[in-house]
Amino acid sequence: MTRTAPTDTASAIAAGDRRYETAVRCGFNQRFVSDVDYISYPRTTADVVAAVGTAVADGKRVTVRSGGHGYEGTGSTEGGVLIDVSVMTSVEYDPSRRAFAIQPGAKVGEIYRELYKRWGVTLPMGECIDVCIGGHLVGGGFGPLSRRYGAIVDYLCAVEVVVVDAAGQARAIVASDDPADPHHDLWWAHTGGGGGNFGVVTQYWLRTPGATSEDPGQLLPPAPTTWRNGYLMWPWDKMTEQDFVRILRNYGTWFERNSAPGSRETNLTAFFCATHKSSDVITVGSLIDDDVPGAREMTNEFFDAVCEGVEVEPSVRTSDEVVSWLYHFTHTNRADHTGLGGSRFKLKSAYLRKAYTAEQIARAYRHLDTEDPRKIFFMFIGYGGQVNAVAPEATAVAQRSSILKGAYLSSWWDPAEDDHHIANLRALYQDVYADTGGVPVTNDANEGAYINYPDRDLADPEWNTSGVSWSTLYYQANYPRLRKVKQRYDPRNEFRHVLSIELPEEQRRSSA
Ligand SMILES: Cc1cc2nc3c(=O)[nH]c(=O)nc-3n(C[C@H](O)[C@H](O)[C@H](O)COP(=O)(O)OP(=O)(O)OC[C@H]3O[C@@H](n4cnc5c(N)ncnc54)[C@H](O)[C@@H]3O)c2cc1C
Repeated sequence: MTRTAPTDTASAIAAGDRRYETAVRCGFNQRFVSDVDYISYPRTTADVVAAVGTAVADGKRVTVRSGGHGYEGTGSTEGGVLIDVSVMTSVEYDPSRRAFAIQPGAKVGEIYRELYKRWGVTLPMGECIDVCIGGHLVGGGFGPLSRRYGAIVDYLCAVEVVVVDAAGQARAIVASDDPADPHHDLWWAHTGGGGGNFGVVTQYWLRTPGATSEDPGQLLPPAPTTWRNGYLMWPWDKMTEQDFVRILRNYGTWFERNSAPGSRETNLTAFFCATHKSSDVITVGSLIDDDVPGAREMTNEFFDAVCEGVEVEPSVRTSDEVVSWLYHFTHTNRADHTGLGGSRFKLKSAYLRKAYTAEQIARAYRHLDTEDPRKIFFMFIGYGGQVNAVAPEATAVAQRSSILKGAYLSSWWDPAEDDHHIANLRALYQDVYADTGGVPVTNDANEGAYINYPDRDLADPEWNTSGVSWSTLYYQANYPRLRKVKQRYDPRNEFRHVLSIELPEEQRRSSA
């Protein structure tokens, strides 16, 4: 295949262009850098239709990127064309749909800012301000307001997608949550079916389900005005296995008790973060809208519960950091709140229906308490609450009974160290899930993994010995329906990556 590219350099950057290296390297995880014929930068839906149509007609593979914050290279590729929609950034109110129309290149931080300043409303999105809604929403994004307001997909009322039909023709379709819409299934697939599977999203429309007002200020949840952060920290040099187990058990069981939809405590969310002992402290952070009556008391009740029976004194205990909500959610530090941007990276995920057992926590602890320094850490982030008020089949986010999301991470800079750090992370995760084939197979304690934190190891029988496929871990019982949508809207499998929705068996065989 020859490496041809459009001649319009304002809308495409070809291999050989001096901007090319920067353009392919703008993703979050430097382990995955595209090597494509050219990168296309459409500005309108019509541009996307033209760009996709040209690529397909030329027999080139098509890959989609919005914010480049995918963790596992699903938005980067070898060969073909990278369609980068990061310049499609508008956030507007669309009176014709009584909904907020948001283009895929809009960054989470910009969306918070626009929605707050113009209408006083918000969405339960994630914490990294540079993540784009393009990949974030379709992957089932969540954030500090999700226990109170649900997952972002619960607000999706319509989506515009550029798809490719069996004849190779590209066209834009608007699909809505109206069950009578002939494209209703395409809407459903975008409520958590994962990015890069069906076509290129060119616009999302969002509104609170059931909202009837004509006033945009009433059509999404009200944004908080002030925000209270609290921290508990323990220095590693004082920590014992017994106390570590106790802290994480206390933390998890608090979420077991306090995650019923609509309950007072779902106003509060939190994270538990433990690094390897060579690098930092063990932290529990709490986050709450300070406009909620009793926010400080709730924070302290939560901290008391986490500390119950723990012998090691925290070196920090504070519940008094109160800041402007908008400032906090859009501060530039939050572009990379994990401090990992620009590095090489591996992440694994898990949904937790229950707190880990003491045995699981002890196993995890031993990977952090080694004499050799390891660049690994894990976090458990508050979930449940309003998220669990929605049925598993109502959207493509099937996980509707978990109380925490787990993220296991490693980051480093030197490519020569890839195998070493990945091996350490794999060993940790495999040990925690030793009783279920090395992965969080759904049972009364686990609910699979999160597709926005993708991990190609789940598709590798060396690391997933459970006999449960990666697709079931991510999509549970919703996977067969997602495959049908794939068959209808991407019958040629033009949109594919290492963890993409597969065509149904029959079709895969006949097109093989
Ligand atoms: C530092 C950091 C912090 C994060 N914090 C959170 C968090 O708080 N909460 C949370 O839920 N998630 C979080 N995430 C995960 C994030 O939601 C996902 O990585 C998300 O998919 C990134 O979207 P993107 O458009 O920026 O990335 P991309 O890499 O551009 O896209 C990710 C995937 O979506 C596909 N895609 C992108 N745009 C489109 C489109 N327009 N149409 C169709 N497919 C598309 C891509 O092909 C790729 O497969 C975080 C990620 C990072 C790196």
